[in-house]
Amino acid sequence: MARETARHLLKRPATVLYPFQRLTLPAGFRGRPALDTEKCTGCRICERDCPAGAITMVQMAEKVLRPGFFYDRCAFCAQCSESCPKDAITMTDEYELAAFDRQSLYGAPAMPRPKDPEIAKGKAAGAPARGA
Ligand code: SF4
Ligand code: SF4
Repeated sequence: MARETARHLLKRPATVLYPFQRLTLPAGFRGRPALDTEKCTGCRICERDCPAGAITMVQMAEKVLRPGFFYDRCAFCAQCSESCPKDAITMTDEYELAAFDRQSLYGAPAMPRPKDPEIAKGKAAGAPARGA
C-alpha cells in the first residue's frame, strides 16, 4: 500500500486541469465535421454511410441538397469524410460542442432543426425522400 502510494506520488498526473490547461491535439484528431458547401454535390453518400444517423439532407434550393449534421448524434468517426467523393467534409479540431439547446447542435445554416421523428426517419423538413 505504502509503495503504491509513493509510486503514484512520483508519477506525473494523467490528466490536465481542463479548461485552464489544454492538451495539444494529435494529428488526425476528429472533432466537429464541417461541410464545404461549394464542393458538395448533394449526392447523399455521407447520409447513407453515417453509422449514427447523424446526417439528414436538407433542401437548400430547388434541386440543391446539402447535408445537415446533428452533432448530438455524431460519433466523430469520420466515415462521412472518408466516403465523400468530393472531399467536401473535413473533421475539424473543434470539440467543445456543449450547448444549452439542441438547435445549437444542428449544423445546417439557416435551417431549423427537424423534429426528432423526422430525424428518426432520416428525412429533414423540405428534403425529398430517399430515392425520390
Ligand atoms: S458525400 Fe460529399 S458530395 Fe455527397 S452529399 Fe455528402 S458532402 Fe455532399
Ligand atoms: S463523423 Fe461519423 S457519426 Fe459523425 S456525421 Fe460523420 S459519419 Fe456520421
